[in-house]
Amino acid sequence: MAHDRPRVRRIGVMGGTFDPIHNGHLVAASEVANRFSLDEVIFVPTGRPWQKLTEDDGEVPDRTKQVSPPEDRYLMTVIATASNPQFSVSRVDIDREGFTYTVDTLRDLRKTLPDAQLYFITGADALESILSWQDWEELFELANFVGVSRPGYELNASHLATHLRNLPADTLHLMEIPALAISSTDCRARAATGRPVWYLVPDGVVQYIAKRRLYRRPRVNSPGVS
Ligand code: ATP
Ligand code: MG
Repeated sequence: MAHDRPRVRRIGVMGGTFDPIHNGHLVAASEVANRFSLDEVIFVPTGRPWQKLTEDDGEVPDRTKQVSPPEDRYLMTVIATASNPQFSVSRVDIDREGFTYTVDTLRDLRKTLPDAQLYFITGADALESILSWQDWEELFELANFVGVSRPGYELNASHLATHLRNLPADTLHLMEIPALAISSTDCRARAATGRPVWYLVPDGVVQYIAKRRLYRRPRVNSPGVS
């Protein structure tokens, strides 16, 4: 009698700055998990995103480009995902020194999950920059990529196909998901000006932002007072 081999575990990897995590991220992860029958989705908050800057990059005065402390972003991600048994959060990127590159994220996860099939989930905007700046041949050896639609950005397969010549079959998937015109940038701007973020981010994240007074503008002329 033939024995069924155990199915290879399929794990989604949802990387992001998550400053803050919002319902657009959660819907993307949930939709991809359903479409590809994933066993789990691991959310991976970035350490220092290479496209964005933290307060340590003191030479840049533009506060809108600064990123909140990793522990706050990590905790918001834990709060947002806690109720879903398929979702978990990894510290691999926030515990690694230096800028975060997707290839390092995938290499580190691969070490702890050598037998799993990884699906890196990314929105239309981030997909293009990840694949144009990094060694996509190595990226595709480590994981499948799933690009999801995002309002305001084009999910353009033919453009990517010309850019990624010789792409192995079945490694890049593009997927329409329910359109949520939510961005962390807009959530931060709302919190900074006292407008609501209710229903854009999970309730616990609304409360965490208020409790930690995240995204409040620093008061002018009162150094040291926050
Ligand atoms: P910011 O405005 O600070 O860049 P963001 O809303 O783009 O924040 P990120 O943490 O940069 O959030 O994004 C993490 C991942 O989630 C990226 O792959 C991004 O494309 C994707 N993503 C973010 N928002 C949405 C959304 N509303 N719909 C689909 N994908 C999204
Ligand atoms: Mg972004």
